[in-house]
Amino acid sequence: MALIKCPECENEVSDQALSCPSCGHPLQSIDQITQQSPVTIEQTTKKWKVVKLVSVIFIIIGLFLFFTGLQDRGFENFKTGLGFTIAFLSLIGFLVGKFGAWWTNR
Ligand SMILES: [Zn+2]
Repeated sequence: MALIKCPECENEVSDQALSCPSCGHPLQSIDQITQQSPVTIEQTTKKWKVVKLVSVIFIIIGLFLFFTGLQDRGFENFKTGLGFTIAFLSLIGFLVGKFGAWWTNR
């Protein structure tokens, strides 16, 4: 536990104190609101961005397999089905990422 100077009255206050005991100036709560919350939201948003980015990459891979497989031997081709499955699952992943980002930033 350390002592810090109150920015308002310059009295020495414990850094654990929520507000200055002599003038009532809020100490910790302001730090927590201005420093912690935006960082947490930013990190969560970043995570969802990665989910969306990876999904888009897999959608492209899936569609590529799907169309090349389709040109090759049509729907009988294993590649076509695999490509379709990858693209479809990635689309769900993309929507989950989109929804997750919206949910975080509500
Ligand atoms: Zn004070």
